[in-house]
Amino acid sequence: MRATCILAWALVSGTVLTAAEPTFRAGVARVVITPSEPMWLAGYAARNRPAEGAEHDLYAKALALEGPDGRGVILLTSDLLGFDREFSHEVVRQVEQATGLSRDRLMLTASHTHCGPVIADNLFGMYPLPGDMQRKALAYTEKLKDKIVEVIVRAWRERQPAVLHHGQGTARFAVNRRLVTPQGVIGGANPDGPVDHSVPVLRVADRNGKLLAVVFGYACHNTTLQYYKWCGDYAGFAQVELEQRHPGATAMFWAGCGGDVNPLPRSTVELCRKYGKELAVAVHEVLSSPMTEIRGPIVARYEEISLPFAFTPSEEQLRVDAKDSYPARRHRAQRYLRLLAEGKSIPTEYPHFPVQVWHLGEVCWIALGGEVVVDYALRLKRELAKDRPIWVTAYANDVMAYIPSERVLAEGGYEGETSMTEYGLPSKWKTGIEDKIIGTTLRLAQGMAAR
Ligand SMILES: [Zn+2]
Repeated sequence: MRATCILAWALVSGTVLTAAEPTFRAGVARVVITPSEPMWLAGYAARNRPAEGAEHDLYAKALALEGPDGRGVILLTSDLLGFDREFSHEVVRQVEQATGLSRDRLMLTASHTHCGPVIADNLFGMYPLPGDMQRKALAYTEKLKDKIVEVIVRAWRERQPAVLHHGQGTARFAVNRRLVTPQGVIGGANPDGPVDHSVPVLRVADRNGKLLAVVFGYACHNTTLQYYKWCGDYAGFAQVELEQRHPGATAMFWAGCGGDVNPLPRSTVELCRKYGKELAVAVHEVLSSPMTEIRGPIVARYEEISLPFAFTPSEEQLRVDAKDSYPARRHRAQRYLRLLAEGKSIPTEYPHFPVQVWHLGEVCWIALGGEVVVDYALRLKRELAKDRPIWVTAYANDVMAYIPSERVLAEGGYEGETSMTEYGLPSKWKTGIEDKIIGTTLRLAQGMAAR
């Protein structure tokens, strides 16, 4: 084994950091994915017209890491609401062919900005998509897939010797949004509700200590804005700010378990810029302080598990819903009635919920599909060893629905129940979902530790 020793002192952004001998190899690449023509914006059912220009460009960014044992992983981050399994499946298939990397070694993530384009087949039934908007969304999706494959493969091919460090900062603008009232759970601000204010940071530098990439996460809906411009929301502003502070470096954001957490207050560009800056400053402060070097190998696991639905809607109910004025409810009912007419049955489970775990040295990096509520991150951090960093990424590999904890499922409300209509799924999840997902994650993570 190589002896890693401190070779030199490097000046990085005015901060003195130790530069170690490169243990890893890293490649970074980016591609602009801003639509070139007016398209429908993703995320809100109430939108009534296409986008009108851009606040800043949207990106897909890839970071390839090769460990000391020659085995690699690739992270993709993107200024997108989310993508479904079909989409990531096709990306993975093409990347596997080009790089030889297997499924467990690719983590595909979306920032969940609501100022990105609608893509197929993520919440497709929720939008009215008038005129040629559906055709444009489908055409954009195909081009996007090609761009994402290309950017991932480019990052892999551009690997160079690199040094990795990890650290953690804090940002406090995330507020739990589920307000329990006598009338049920409503959307609002619940300052006493659970949140995770941690900001995990991965620093990737070249052999001279120059910053190549900084990867950071935050558990908060990326939804400060509801306007009609292309924008990466607070995560977009944070990446722009970090790239200005560190010229030549690529800043990459992943969304954590913020399914029930909002940036509050919100709805103005000023607030969005402010949150972006706050997050960028938190990351910058971590970069400017002593960080812990990552030396160990990269280990990766990926598993898909089946999550059952609570019940199957009756044909009678579907016939009523098929005439509903709300597009999401109407489209869902029409789709299931078509299935029944074809002699098929309505699904009773979602068979492909993705659970991924990477170990980067001592860092345990978990990636879950869907809009995962914060209880998952808090519980995983509690249950996994406390002496190691636990990073929990959500909106990863497949965004098929909200993923409520048992508490949120029992309370109901949007994240616990009603959002399943928007996602076109038959009913709320069946109880037991939390233990199933946590159990799988712990089994994968602990099995790796023992190896
Ligand atoms: Zn959401």
